[in-house]
Amino acid sequence: MRSRWSDREAAEFVGRYGAEWGEELALRAFSSRLLGQETSLVLHGGGNTSLKSDYVTILGERPKALWVKGSGLDLSTIEPDGFAGLDLAYLLRLRALSELDDATMSREFRGHMFRPDGPAPSIEALVHAFLPAVYVDHTHADAVLALTNRPGGEELVREALGGEVLVLPYITPGFELALAAASALETHPAARAMVWSHHGIVTWGQSARESYEAMIEYVSRAEAFAGGRSTRTSAEQTDGCSTQKLAQVMPLVRGLLAEVTGDADRPRRPLVLQALSGKAVLEALAMPGARDAFVSPPLTSDHLIRTKALPLWVDLAGADEGSMQARLVESVADYVLVYESYLSRHGDLLPEGIAPFDARPRVVLTPGIGAICAGRDLREATIARDITEHTLAVKAAIGVGAEYEGMPERELFRMEYRGLQLAKLAGFERPLGGRIALVTGAAGAIGAGICEGLLEQGCLVAATDLPGDPLKRLVAGLGEHHPGAIVGITMDVTCPDSVAAAFEEVALRWGGVDLVVANAGIAMVAPLVDLDLEAYRRLERVNVEGTLLVIAEAARLLKRQAIGGDIVLISTKNVFAPGANFGAYSSTKAAAHQLARIASLELAGDDIRVNMVAPDAVFGHGRQRSGLWAEVGPDRMKARGLDEAGLEAYYQSRNLLKARVTADHVARAVMFFATRQTPTTGATIPVDGGLPDSTPR
Ligand SMILES: [Zn+2]
Repeated sequence: MRSRWSDREAAEFVGRYGAEWGEELALRAFSSRLLGQETSLVLHGGGNTSLKSDYVTILGERPKALWVKGSGLDLSTIEPDGFAGLDLAYLLRLRALSELDDATMSREFRGHMFRPDGPAPSIEALVHAFLPAVYVDHTHADAVLALTNRPGGEELVREALGGEVLVLPYITPGFELALAAASALETHPAARAMVWSHHGIVTWGQSARESYEAMIEYVSRAEAFAGGRSTRTSAEQTDGCSTQKLAQVMPLVRGLLAEVTGDADRPRRPLVLQALSGKAVLEALAMPGARDAFVSPPLTSDHLIRTKALPLWVDLAGADEGSMQARLVESVADYVLVYESYLSRHGDLLPEGIAPFDARPRVVLTPGIGAICAGRDLREATIARDITEHTLAVKAAIGVGAEYEGMPERELFRMEYRGLQLAKLAGFERPLGGRIALVTGAAGAIGAGICEGLLEQGCLVAATDLPGDPLKRLVAGLGEHHPGAIVGITMDVTCPDSVAAAFEEVALRWGGVDLVVANAGIAMVAPLVDLDLEAYRRLERVNVEGTLLVIAEAARLLKRQAIGGDIVLISTKNVFAPGANFGAYSSTKAAAHQLARIASLELAGDDIRVNMVAPDAVFGHGRQRSGLWAEVGPDRMKARGLDEAGLEAYYQSRNLLKARVTADHVARAVMFFATRQTPTTGATIPVDGGLPDSTPR
C-alpha cells in the first residue's frame, strides 16, 4: 500500500477549511480522507481518527479538546464538522472508573461536548482520549485482519509487523478496550502501533502525516508478509449461465429474507439485494472446504450489524427452479433455528428495550452463482455487499482447512446488539423504503411524475421506456436528486422478450420488484369512419397487448418472490366517459382496464393487488408536455377555437372542483395504492377534479 500524502493537496485543504476550523483539524480531516479512500483499510463508516488540540471558547479560554470522528460517518468524505469536539481533561478523568457501561458513556460524551450540535462521537472515542499522541488513526485493515484471524494470530502479527507493534487479544470495544490500550502503551512507551485481535490496527503521531504514514507502513508490512497476495477481489463479469441462475435465485431469496412485520396489510417488509458474482467470488466459493472457511465469524466486530454473525450457505448445484426454491426455503428455515438458539444462549446480554432482529440471514453464499447481500435499503445492501467482498477475499487468502479463527460467539452477540452500534441503523424510514418499482412509459409526462413521486417516498425506481433521449434525460434529471435510486431500462411493451428482459434486469440489479406501474400508452384522434386499421392496431398493440404483457410478467416475478405486491394501471377517464373522435384510444384503454380488473381476480390469492388510476387531461409535468397533449391538443384547440392556455382552462372549468389535474396528482393516487392504505383491489381512483359522467360504475 502506498502513501497518498500530498503536501500540495494538504495545503489546499488547509486553505479551504483552516480559517474556520484551524490548520490542525483541517489536516485531521485531510488524512482521514486518505485512509477512507483505501477500501482495504476501512469500508463505509468503519475506522476512526482523532486530534488533540485546543478549543477556543467565546470567552477566549483554550481548554484541551479531543476531536474524534462522529459515529458512522464515512472517512472518505469527512469534513472538519464531522468530528465531535469533547472536553479532553474530563475524558481523561474517566480512566479512574473501574467500569463504564455504554449508555452512561454516551451520556457523558453528550454532556461534555464543546459543540453539542456536532455528531455523536465514535464508540471508540475513549481509546483516542487515553492514547497520548496528538493524532491517532484506527482502521480495520484487511491485511492485518488476515493475520490476526487465525490460530496463533498474535505471534504472526509480531513476526510480520516487528517488535515495535503491540498486540492485544480481542477486547470489547469501548471503555474496556480504551483502558487496555492505554496501559499497554504505558508499559511499552516506545511502541509505534497497536494491533487489536479480530478488530484492527491503531497508529499515532505528532503530525497528521506521521500518524497516517505509520498506518501505511504497518499495513504494507502485513501485506508483504502475506506474500503480496492481493486481498481484494475484482468484480469482473461472469459467464451468462451463472447470471441467468442469479436472476432466477435473487427474487426467491428476496422473498425468503423479507422481514415479518405483523401488519396485516403489509405482512412482509422486503429488503434490497446486491449480488457479487465476479470471477474471484465464484472461484472463492468453489474452493474445496469453502463452506467451512466462509461460514465463519466476520473479520471485525464493526461488520456484524451489516452482515449478521454468519452467512447462509446454500448449494444449488444441479437444482431446477422448483428444487431451488425448496432448498432455499429449507436452508433459510434452518438458519432461523440456529439464529434463535444463538439468541437464547446469549439472551442475557440483550439490552433492555431492544427487540431481537429478524432471524433471517443478510448474506447468502451460493457456489456457482454468487454472494447475495441484503439490506433495508440500497445503502445498507451496498455496505453488506462491500463488506462481504472483502471478507471473502481475506478468508480466501487465509486459506481453507479451518484455519480461520474469528471472535468468540458471545462477543459476536454482544456487538450485534450493542446500543451504540444499533444507533447506526436507526433513521427515518420513508413510506416506500426498501421497495422497488418498475414504471412503463416512464419518459412521458405522467410517467416522469410517477417516478419522481416514488423516489421521494424512498422507492427504488426502474424507469422503462423505448430507447432514446427522453428516457436518458429523465434518469439523468431525477438521478441528480436521488443518486443510485433510479435506473433507466429500455423496454418495448409490445415485445414479450423485451418485457421479460427488463424485469430480469431489475431482479439482477436490486433483487426483484414490489410495485409495477403499467403506464405506457399512446393516443390518436380520428372519427370511426376515418379510422385507419393499421393505426388502430398500433394502439391496440401498445395499450392492450403491452398492458397484458407487463401485467403477466409482473405477476410471474411477484409470484416467485411470494411476498405479494402491487400493480397499478394508469387508465383514463375515457374508459367511463369516452370522447368522440377518440375511439381508438378509449376502446383500447377500456380493454386494458378490463385486463387489470381480471388480474385483480386472478392474483388476489397471492396478495398481489391490482388497481387503476383514471386521470383526465394531464397535459404535462413541469415543463414537459405529454404525448397525449401532442396528439389531442392541436385537434381540440382547433375544434374549440382555443389556444393552449385556453384549452387547459377549458378542461379545468369543466370539472366540479375546477381543478387543474397534474402528473403529481396521478403519482399521489399511485402512492395511495402502493402504501396499502386500505384493503382494496380491482378499484379505480378517478383523478379528474370530479366529472359526474366518468364516475366509475
Ligand atoms: Zn474499530
